[in-house]
Amino acid sequence: MSRSVDLFVIGGGSGGVRAGRIAAQHGAKVMLAEEYRLGGTCVIRGCVPKKLFVYAGRYAHDLEDMAGFGWTVEGARFDWPTLIARKDQEIARLEGIYRRNLVAPGVEIVDGRAEIIGPNRVRLVATGEEIEAGHILVATGAHPALGPAIPGAERAITSNEAFHLPRLPPRILIQGGGYIAVEFACLFRALGSEVHLVFRADQILRGFDEDVRALVAQEMAHSGIVFHTGQTLTGITAEGGTKTVTLSDGSAIAVDEVMLAIGRLPNTSGLGLDAVGVATDKVGAVIVDADGRTNVPSIYAVGDVTNRINLTPVAIREGHAFADSVFGNKPWRVDHSLVATAVFTEPEVGTCGLSETAARAAGHAVDIYKSQFRPMRATLSGRETRMLVKLIVDQQSDKVLGCHVVGEGAGEIIQMAAIAMGMGATKADFDRTVAVHPTAAEELVTLR
Ligand code: FAD
Ligand code: NDP
Repeated sequence: MSRSVDLFVIGGGSGGVRAGRIAAQHGAKVMLAEEYRLGGTCVIRGCVPKKLFVYAGRYAHDLEDMAGFGWTVEGARFDWPTLIARKDQEIARLEGIYRRNLVAPGVEIVDGRAEIIGPNRVRLVATGEEIEAGHILVATGAHPALGPAIPGAERAITSNEAFHLPRLPPRILIQGGGYIAVEFACLFRALGSEVHLVFRADQILRGFDEDVRALVAQEMAHSGIVFHTGQTLTGITAEGGTKTVTLSDGSAIAVDEVMLAIGRLPNTSGLGLDAVGVATDKVGAVIVDADGRTNVPSIYAVGDVTNRINLTPVAIREGHAFADSVFGNKPWRVDHSLVATAVFTEPEVGTCGLSETAARAAGHAVDIYKSQFRPMRATLSGRETRMLVKLIVDQQSDKVLGCHVVGEGAGEIIQMAAIAMGMGATKADFDRTVAVHPTAAEELVTLR
């Protein structure tokens, strides 16, 4: 007789852990399998270690900026192995918290891989044990895409390995123009690396507002990051410690590390989805309805494996909605509109809603309000930097359709703006709000 559970969760990342914990709190018997480390991409090799690296880089800027405020700092130096060790400690601490949060409501954790062998049946790969499950939740996340095979591709790393490099690379080439590429380009540059950013388009951050893209690119270039636009990699050779990368225009760049950041692909291969007939799309993402249900009624999926909005808070919310709906008798759905997001570049980006281009393409007649200005801190620090705030407003309804911020604190600012936008705020509502002075965010309520 095989063991049976109400819910088997495959994947102990943002979505899976939340779903498992909440379902157990609702009284369900839950088993959760994680083949690597509890916490998943976000905690182990994504948002959290990335943000810790970003903080490390920002101290370099602070050190430069301090002189203008009267400070003299002598002998400051950065030690990469210390950062790595401290980061690893923190990640291990968080991993422990994730484990305890699952154990407390009674979730049984399987430290190993699981695969689906039937609409209500899962196999634990390490032991071969088969578990009967009322529902199966696929929360297996995604992995870095490696792109078309090129000679020497095995010499490149991805963000996974970037968190464990034995030394700060003096020179690094990063391929890609999306979130990961630009964030790592900025943090490596801030820590002192020579950084080459190679991407196939003519601008970074496709899909973001054009003014945001232009300003971030300008500031990144100003910081010394070398842009190679309209290029792909054609090969990587290695000699001694140096890796030489050839680009599609025939040029060659010598660096110490090459990092690919060209998107992520859903972890569905070998999971057994085909055998039970779960439909996937052309990149292997699990196709789900608004409730996270696949075409097989007992199997659901949440998070990056569904390749919708690949952000931690979205995965968490999808997992929570699934657990409340299926096990808590409290059905609700995740609203995927107006999801705010931040890009932790230098300067930072915070964005919510439509870009100007997307608003116009959707047929809105829009008014644009924007301000580019020198942040107050830069006056004394002497740093050549600009901040941007921009609102896209629907002419007919006066609703704020898009809000975009570039500069210090943009991620924090956009979280608050997203609340207002979610409530349907109009430009008049923004205008009616008394400013907090002196801040950068006050520009959002003083745009005329
Ligand atoms: P994951 O967190 O990836 O969890 C899936 C888990 O399933 C993994 O632990 C995996 O080992 C496990 N697994 C897979 N297959 C199996 C199997 N067959 N059996 C058992 N276990 C299995 N998002 C943000 O919102 N903000 C950020 O700042 C941010 N920064 C990021 C930085 C980087 C470098 C990366 C890579 C991502 C970042 N993200 C960020 C995205 C965020 O990490 C993901 O959207 C989020 O982790 C998705 O959660 P998930 O539960 O869907 O998948
Ligand atoms: P993105 O989708 O953000 O960017 C992928 C980049 O790779 C784009 O510049 C794209 O180019 C390029 N690209 C795609 N395929 C190829 C190819 N075959 N050859 C060359 N270039 C290619 O993916 P990331 O890997 O940067 O990040 C994955 C996801 O993780 C993000 O989309 C986001 O959801 C999440 N994330 C969130 C963060 C945050 O919230 N701060 C931080 C990091 C990740 P093009 O523009 O031309 O299509």
